[in-house]
Amino acid sequence: MKKQDELFAGKAKTVYATDDADKLILHFRNDTSAFDGEKIEQLDRKGRINNRFNAFIMEKLKAAGVATHFEKILNDEESLVKKLEMLPIECVVRNISTGSLCRRLGVEEGLDLNPPTFEFFLKNDELHDPMINDYHILSFKWATGDEITQMKALTFKVNDILASLFRDAGMLLVDYKLEFGRYRGALLLGDEFTPDGCRLWDIETRKKLDKDRFRQGLGGVVEAYEEVAQRLGVSL
Ligand code: 5GP
Repeated sequence: MKKQDELFAGKAKTVYATDDADKLILHFRNDTSAFDGEKIEQLDRKGRINNRFNAFIMEKLKAAGVATHFEKILNDEESLVKKLEMLPIECVVRNISTGSLCRRLGVEEGLDLNPPTFEFFLKNDELHDPMINDYHILSFKWATGDEITQMKALTFKVNDILASLFRDAGMLLVDYKLEFGRYRGALLLGDEFTPDGCRLWDIETRKKLDKDRFRQGLGGVVEAYEEVAQRLGVSL
């Protein structure tokens, strides 16, 4: 597998073409960003931790029957993935109220959401990823009705799998964001699953173990990611 041109540099990952037109290389960088790129810092070891963590979660999801783009780890900071036609949509499931949900709806932080709630956001930094609904997605043809149904079902399936995985390791999966893409007529989970794109709290103390430590300037960001990985048994 030969690495070729850089195709796209996101806020925390760079995507490279390969000599296989169906495969891409994801490079997990140490860059950590918040507030749509307004706050950016380099955090030592984070690229490697996220690469390993993402591989571990993607393998768990695959084993539980969720089709993903993940193929294999290539080295410390890079993984090989299938090339998807990404939908410009973020799918968020929330088990506990916090973050933008509380700011938008004025609801109390830390409420158990039963059933968990689901939201779509448009992936657009300039517009600060506005919330959208099924009708926006259909009217602007960002995805089909069938894809909407699949995105919801798959995102909730991921919740069933991962909430219990994290609970068994003493953590609450508070919320998370997933992105999907098309591949040979199927919808696959793309992007990544790391503490950059989810919220994890210690089950007893509710200590934050995710990117909120960076967003809120709490410190110990990489140490928290390492703790999450260790609790799950991810080899770093
Ligand atoms: P909120 O809407 O409360 O800001 O975020 C909800 C969940 O989705 C959080 O776990 C957050 O980390 C994740 N999330 C939402 N938007 C983004 C994004 O643009 N990038 C990343 N990495 N995570 C996001």
